[in-house]
Amino acid sequence: QKENVLITYKDPERVKILEKMIKETVEKIGRSLRIMEFCGGHTHTIMKYGIDQILKGFIYFVHGPGCPVCVLPMQRVDLAIELAKQKDVILCTYGDVLRVPGSNRKSLLNLKAEGSDVRMFYSCLDAIKVAQNNPDKQVIFFAIGFETTTPQTALLILKAKDLGLKNLSVVSNHVITPAAIQHILNAPEVREVGSIDIDGFIGPGHVSTIIGTRPYEYFAEEFLKPVVISGFEPLDIMISVYMIAKQIEKRKAFVENQYVRFVTREGNIKAQKLVAEVFELRKEFEWRGLGIIPYSALKIKKKYSDFDAEERFKVEVPPPKEHPACICGKVIRGVALPFECRLFGKVCTPSNPYGSCMVSSEGACAAYYNYRGTI
Ligand code: SF4
Repeated sequence: QKENVLITYKDPERVKILEKMIKETVEKIGRSLRIMEFCGGHTHTIMKYGIDQILKGFIYFVHGPGCPVCVLPMQRVDLAIELAKQKDVILCTYGDVLRVPGSNRKSLLNLKAEGSDVRMFYSCLDAIKVAQNNPDKQVIFFAIGFETTTPQTALLILKAKDLGLKNLSVVSNHVITPAAIQHILNAPEVREVGSIDIDGFIGPGHVSTIIGTRPYEYFAEEFLKPVVISGFEPLDIMISVYMIAKQIEKRKAFVENQYVRFVTREGNIKAQKLVAEVFELRKEFEWRGLGIIPYSALKIKKKYSDFDAEERFKVEVPPPKEHPACICGKVIRGVALPFECRLFGKVCTPSNPYGSCMVSSEGACAAYYNYRGTI
């Protein structure tokens, strides 16, 4: 049954029908459209199935921030490295974070090879077992993610408190998607005519299962840009592009939900309550490529400060040293394509990443490398 659903969402005949419908609508509009996909999962599907090629000349896809690893600024990677160097510390995080280069191209993986205790988790709740089994060590979970993974980090902190764990803490790098989209729309590069004027957004699917579609309503109205929350199969993307094109044809701009099989307007209220219990908005947080965005990330509330590693461990992190040739920032803002980076595919590859966009399979550079080769 599940397989049939997936086959339907990949059905080439339906893709062809939608291709025709999109092209006819764009012809009526009278110009090609620039659509930004915020989420790297969508970039991955667009590249893997050649949707950008199918719609070439009609739809130009502008790749957005991508994934949490892509937008993690180097200074936070350096912070993780400094924490992992501390005596009697076990630093735990999700897999891709281990490979993101910090200053001087040093990563957590390099540090692990040098003997530091750095561990990779699939679930942050594993940190509880590690803390219980290592009472003489301080276990730090370096938490990263858009809204999708934040509820689980909140649960980790609540469980740690319930169990009275004194040797477990969290560095919160959780960021908020709508704030970043609003920031992109406010950026001069987007507003200036002749630069990257975005006509509409393919909104993130997984994030929206948690926050719902409501948070996007403000800027769809304010900036007059259609937003369609989309699933990740080829047909999901084609339908979403068609929905955006139809809104533009009718001179409308509102939020639509293509991913109705998982996303509602209100989102997952239980998960939202968990997050609200443990986290509050940070006044400002730096995103790679986008700079400092006010109220775009979450910090641990004071009442849970015993579990806040940034409160408990005051480590000095020198200013980051970015590789001068890496243009991840521009790629994340959608103003440059990975091919435009002179390191792309030559020295920077998924097995030897120089920048964050080449680390995760959802990064734009990795997607281009995997599906478009090195030319
Ligand atoms: Fe950075 Fe590598 Fe992408 Fe260039 S190809 S922008 S170095 S990640």
